[in-house]
Amino acid sequence: MNVGLLQKSLIDGEVALILSETNRLYFTEFSASDGYLIVSKFGAKFITDSRYIEAAENEVKECTVELQKGGAEFYAQLIKTVDEFGGKNILFEASRLTVSDEMKFKEKLGAYTCDFSSKLDNLISSFREIKTDVEVEKMKVAQGIAEKALLDTMPLIKPGVMERDIAAELDYRMRKLGAPCVSFETIVVAGENSSKPHGVPGENRIKNGDFVTIDFGAVYEGYHSDTTRTFAVGSISDEQKRVYETVLRAQKAGVENLRPGISARDADKVCRDIISEAGFGEFFGHSTGHGVGVEIHELPNLSPRADTEIQLAIGNVVTVEPGIYLPGKFGVRIEDMLLITADGAQNFCNLPKELITL
Ligand code: ZN
Ligand code: ZN
Repeated sequence: MNVGLLQKSLIDGEVALILSETNRLYFTEFSASDGYLIVSKFGAKFITDSRYIEAAENEVKECTVELQKGGAEFYAQLIKTVDEFGGKNILFEASRLTVSDEMKFKEKLGAYTCDFSSKLDNLISSFREIKTDVEVEKMKVAQGIAEKALLDTMPLIKPGVMERDIAAELDYRMRKLGAPCVSFETIVVAGENSSKPHGVPGENRIKNGDFVTIDFGAVYEGYHSDTTRTFAVGSISDEQKRVYETVLRAQKAGVENLRPGISARDADKVCRDIISEAGFGEFFGHSTGHGVGVEIHELPNLSPRADTEIQLAIGNVVTVEPGIYLPGKFGVRIEDMLLITADGAQNFCNLPKELITL
């Protein structure tokens, strides 16, 4: 449970009201589409409705669990809790609220100071960027499910098969192996379609000489995995080989360079320089990587636009995913997910990344 992290960071009179599904999951390890987590230095309460109450009472630790009251009574319940915790200043997750949420809380909680600044968001980000051992173990399980599913799906990748069939088979296997859902809409793009970094798998059929790029991940107990591999089908051109070798070289350099203290910009630059020096700089439009956790994209970002002072730290989980996309021709991306450790980085991914021809 991560709720203690937040409790330690709050001062007397502060109460954090956590409404977003991902942050509630992060702090309680309990997955529910609805609920309120109220946290102060002195205690934490999880309020949820009848759909989740039985499971929450059994599974949510370090918090009092209470059944949510209906209608206007709910606000009385909320106010009672804030008062129990000695709350004067209520902190909200500004980036997660809608304008109507803000208006509603201002009206109902007018007796308190409502803080809609980025203070709570920044605090939560600083916790979420550093994974605990428990979180890392969950991400290893997610990665293991995804890898096994890909290996089981690979024999199906051959000329004549539709992209969307490969995506469906991969998703089915991830679920069958224990993922309640997949990390995002699985990307399977072949041939010309592979030049679109986030192309949608459709009725396009794999042909001889195609690259097939698969970007996929599994979720386990709320934690995501994220991996990309590009395969060759049949014989490919020298240009395709050159592009693959360039992406591979950039990706390996990016992985080897990861360590605590490196700036997020430099982590990006290592990959970007190799691709630019090979003459493909304009065809690598996206960032080199991103953090992963209870959401598929979280901080830190490995990007040329990252703030210069952002550095990688022990416990970050980030992807390294350079790519080259030649419009109308083909694309290549290789992506691993890694944990930053004291002496570098530990790769979650055990799949080979030298070019595999199917
Ligand atoms: Zn990915
Ligand atoms: Zn990614």
